[in-house]
Amino acid sequence: MPRTRLVLILLVLLAAAATAQTPARRLKVHISVDMEGIAGVVTGEQLGPTGFEYGRFREFMTHEALAAVRAAKAAGATEIVVADSHGNGQNLLIEQFPSDVRIIRSWPRRLGMVAGIDDGVDAAIFIGYHAGTSNPTGVRAHTFSSATLTRVALNGENVTEGSWNAAIAGHFNVPVIMMSGDDAAIAEVQKAVGMIEAAETKRSFGFHSASTLTPGASVGLIGTRVSAALARIGDFKPYKITAPVVVDVTFKHYMPAEVLAYLPIFERTDSHSIRFRARDMAEASMIMNFIGEYRPDITP
Ligand SMILES: [Zn+2]
Repeated sequence: MPRTRLVLILLVLLAAAATAQTPARRLKVHISVDMEGIAGVVTGEQLGPTGFEYGRFREFMTHEALAAVRAAKAAGATEIVVADSHGNGQNLLIEQFPSDVRIIRSWPRRLGMVAGIDDGVDAAIFIGYHAGTSNPTGVRAHTFSSATLTRVALNGENVTEGSWNAAIAGHFNVPVIMMSGDDAAIAEVQKAVGMIEAAETKRSFGFHSASTLTPGASVGLIGTRVSAALARIGDFKPYKITAPVVVDVTFKHYMPAEVLAYLPIFERTDSHSIRFRARDMAEASMIMNFIGEYRPDITP
C-alpha cells in the first residue's frame, strides 16, 4: 500500500472517531400556545366549546403550534415541550403532534402558561398570543382574565401575558425568541422584551374585529419566523426584571380587593386594587395563580 494512501486511511479513521465522540448538540424548546392570537380568531365563537366555530379553530390552533414544532425540529431541536395555555387548557389536538413532543394540559399548574419551563430550556416561543388588558387596541385584549381583571402591572409597568411570561422565562435564563399574534400583541411584547422575531397573524380592527391571514398563510409565516429565530438564537437575551418584584392588580369587582387585603402580603391600593411583593418571578407567578384560582368551593 502506498504510504500516502495509508496516511489518508488513517486520517479518515481519525475523523470518524472524532465525529463519533462529539456529543449531539441538545436544543430544548418550549412553546406556549394561546388562542386569541391565532389567525381568524375574532370573537368568543372561536374560543371555547360553546362557540359554533370552536371545533374548526382548535384545528387551526393545532396547525399553528405544529408549524412551530416542525420548524424547531428542522432547526435541530432535540426536545420540545408544548403548553396548551388557553381556556380549559385542553384545546390542542394532541394526536396530531410528533410522538417525541410532550404536551402540558389543563389547570391549575405551577408557572401557568409557561409551565414546564426550567433552566434546561434553550428558547421559548409564544404562539397565538394577544394584547394586554390596558391596551386600547388588540383582538380580545386582556391579561389572564377578561372577566375579573382590568390591570396587571409589574414593577409599575402595565403588562401583557406575553411580557409576564417572558419575565418568568427570564427568571430561568430562557430567552423568548419568537411570538405570533395580532399587530397589537406583537408591538406590546417587543416594546417590553425587545425585538424578538414575530409572525403577525392578523391586524386588529377592534376588540372583536380583525383583518386576518388565512390559516394556511399563517402556518407558513410562523414556520418561517421560528426558523429565522432559531438560526440566530444567540442574539436573544433572557428578559430579566428587577427583583424583588412589585405586582399591582386591579379587579373589575370590589370584593376581591377587600378580601385579599385581609392577608398581610396584600396591600390595598384603592377600592378595586391590591399590590404584593414577591421574591422573584417564580414566586410572583404562584401568587397570581392563587389569586386567579382560589375559591372556597374548589373541587375535588
Ligand atoms: Zn387565551
